[in-house]
Amino acid sequence: MELKRLFLKANNELENSGQGGKDRKVTCRKCQKKNTVTKIRNNNFVCPDCGHYFQVRARRRILMLTDRRSFIEMNRDMKSVNVLGFPEYDDKLRSAMDKSRENEGVICGEAQVDGHKICIFSMDSNFMMGSMGAVVGEKITSLFEYATVRNLPVLGITVSGGARMQEGMISLMQMSKVSAAVKRHSNAGNLYITLLTNPTTGGVDASFAMLGDITLAEPGARIGFAGPRVIEKSLNRSLPKDFQKAERVLECGFIDAIVTRSEQKTYIAKLLKIHGM
Ligand SMILES: [Zn+2]
Repeated sequence: MELKRLFLKANNELENSGQGGKDRKVTCRKCQKKNTVTKIRNNNFVCPDCGHYFQVRARRRILMLTDRRSFIEMNRDMKSVNVLGFPEYDDKLRSAMDKSRENEGVICGEAQVDGHKICIFSMDSNFMMGSMGAVVGEKITSLFEYATVRNLPVLGITVSGGARMQEGMISLMQMSKVSAAVKRHSNAGNLYITLLTNPTTGGVDASFAMLGDITLAEPGARIGFAGPRVIEKSLNRSLPKDFQKAERVLECGFIDAIVTRSEQKTYIAKLLKIHGM
């Protein structure tokens, strides 16, 4: 870690309270009720009053789904470069690093779920809305290649606005690069489970997020390619209220199950056990 980042505070209010100081209260933006950070955290970052799902950081997701101290991170130091000289991209990268305290929008590594060894990637909405550039694509591709050689299942937790526009075609080609690695992993007979969280959209939705052998989602998560406003304008008609919501996407057959946060680890462990992993 760079020294100048040593004393930065996490930008996510839920991640940054109740530790040594006063246990602050946070207002739920859905029901407007206040609860202490500890209470929300102990409830898997779900509002105790209305069930609203708060955003969860990538690293916290890994902690919530894997066995204690089993996670070994890979390629943490990979950082994006402004290869196209896109205006203000360098500043955006710097501010994303400060905000997320991560080097990129995805965290990859090896871990265990109830004793089952897996490879895991977890995207971070605090890093340029989990957008996929060359580094995100490369990290996930490397993870699949690592898992293929070792015959390990992959668990992917997605949250993303899509491809990173500041990297142009380089970001778009990550869709096919990761998809090809997923296919090679699948051809070798390995299991790939995805957990789609709010929102999983754009080029991530149109590639590896929807390529899982088993596709799970969180309640109410937005899952889709283009945003509803774009679709409404281009089709010139209004869309149903539940458009692109996980519940509707399940009805349409694009995902296999909606799993609440409190059940996710047990559910995934069961899947791994059934598949003999
Ligand atoms: Zn609430």
